[in-house]
Amino acid sequence: MRAVKGKGTRLEKRLWAMLAGLGLKGWKKNAGDVAGKPDVVFLNQRVAIFIDGCFWHGCPYCNRKLPATNREYWEKKIKRNIELARSYDEQLQREGWVVLRIWEHEMADMKTVRIKILHLLVKERLL
Ligand SMILES: [Zn+2]
Repeated sequence: MRAVKGKGTRLEKRLWAMLAGLGLKGWKKNAGDVAGKPDVVFLNQRVAIFIDGCFWHGCPYCNRKLPATNREYWEKKIKRNIELARSYDEQLQREGWVVLRIWEHEMADMKTVRIKILHLLVKERLL
């Protein structure tokens, strides 16, 4: 899914910069040891944040067109991504994590993303 593992995509970097700008502490990038490798985790508070690509996760809002060729392949691949994400969410929740998924298209409005994250942290009494 990511062209360069570990280095951070443009969207991840934007999220990290926003969190750093908020002065929030205790979060970690690309937690490889947590199920599904969330883009951000608050380890002690057990909050996992993912950014889901609209194409790769079949965003119903963007409803991106599949490539004309190998349609079946892409359909299967995207379906598999959705199933995988769901099973990671379930696993994380069983392990006591709170999971937040942010759509790629939501990243166009960082103010809303910021509010979403802060709301969650307040709701879970983490702030
Ligand atoms: Zn979308």
